[in-house]
Amino acid sequence: MKKVCFALLALLACSAASAATPWQKITQPIPGAAQSIGTFSNGCIVGAQPLPIASDHYQIMRTDQRRYFGHPELVRFIERLSNQVSELQLGTVLVGDMGMPAGGRFNGGHASHQTGLDVDIFLQLPKTRWSAAQLRRPQALDLVSGDGKSVVQSLWKPEIGGLIKLAALDDEVTRIFVNPAIKQQLCLDAGPDRDWLRKVRPWFQHRAHMHVRLRCPPDSLECVEQDPPPPGDGCGEELQSWFKPAAPGSSKPEKTTPPPLPPSCQALLDKHVL
Ligand SMILES: [Zn+2]
Repeated sequence: MKKVCFALLALLACSAASAATPWQKITQPIPGAAQSIGTFSNGCIVGAQPLPIASDHYQIMRTDQRRYFGHPELVRFIERLSNQVSELQLGTVLVGDMGMPAGGRFNGGHASHQTGLDVDIFLQLPKTRWSAAQLRRPQALDLVSGDGKSVVQSLWKPEIGGLIKLAALDDEVTRIFVNPAIKQQLCLDAGPDRDWLRKVRPWFQHRAHMHVRLRCPPDSLECVEQDPPPPGDGCGEELQSWFKPAAPGSSKPEKTTPPPLPPSCQALLDKHVL
């Protein structure tokens, strides 16, 4: 079922790729106390902050896209994670998309990243900082083999596992999405300390980056939290199901119309987008 949904989502993303969404017209954060509103895939944010562009510990890719806004908790998380990575001398953290200045729906590519609580982080940790040209046109490193069954052993490095584990150990993080082959490698490498693996969820694509999601901040009263991941390290049957072919015709087509916006997000659009 998951695979069929994904195919439909991909189609939707492609067909919508050229149509701008009203959220792209909002070029600055909405002033106010930080509030994440709605669900991760149907929401918005008031009081977003930009991740500071200058840092010794991370670099932001594709700044021309202006997708480096998020809830202050997300900004603090990225700073915290990259400080830890730097202390351990693992390399420089490469930050991909966070959210737009007021969050909301992108014109393609992401279904979530709408409430300022999601960030994509590349699964490579360069020892020397990337040039401006590299940051403008980042080269993703595909860590997954062609058949999707394992990571490419010549590319997989223990520090990548370390990066994912550091993120998973962060109290504010609820979920991290990676390709099933990457989750499998983490399962193989982990010793007896496995609790953190619960947060690492197998998902389509995510072959070169991890998608990190934070919990709803307690004072964001209109933020809709997801159920926690199922108990356990998720290394057993659930993970193995990703490596089996999907049974044809085993699922109903998904609805294609996006759900209505949360009223607070609609009100914000009505006020800020003519
Ligand atoms: Zn993402």
